[in-house]
Amino acid sequence: MKIANQTVVSFHYTVKDKEGDEIDSSVGYEPLVALIGHKNIIEGLEESLIDKVAGDKFATEIEANKAYGPRHDELMQTLPKEMFASLGEVEVGMQLRASTDQGEQSVIVVDVTDEEVTVDGNHPLAGIDLEFDIEILTVRAATAEELAHGHVHNDGESCESGTH
Ligand code: ZN
Repeated sequence: MKIANQTVVSFHYTVKDKEGDEIDSSVGYEPLVALIGHKNIIEGLEESLIDKVAGDKFATEIEANKAYGPRHDELMQTLPKEMFASLGEVEVGMQLRASTDQGEQSVIVVDVTDEEVTVDGNHPLAGIDLEFDIEILTVRAATAEELAHGHVHNDGESCESGTH
């Protein structure tokens, strides 16, 4: 069957930036399984899957606006280093949880000086155009329960069984 909204698709992907550097890949691991039409995966990827069938292999470019969105400079914050004292040594690249007006947020340390720490709350892939290599493995209709929940239940398992 063709991929459409309300189908469940399993697929392998490799995602690269425009320079061709690999960012992530499912190849060699479990494939990604997604319910189409419920924003389980980024918009541009969902669009590229529509009408494909099991066995299809293809490459697609997805601009940042249809991937992880644009970068927001206001999500960069420089803070006094003493605010991080309880964490011990703070290093560039560390991922931290920060309490903000919008609730708990994941931030990445991008700069550390003697006095200050700069953190970035943007998604690491915000503002980046992506290239995906996709291989479709299986396509099936979603169950009524999956449609009601808006996500996939693998192997007929239900949320109530505590597997989510
Ligand atoms: Zn569920």
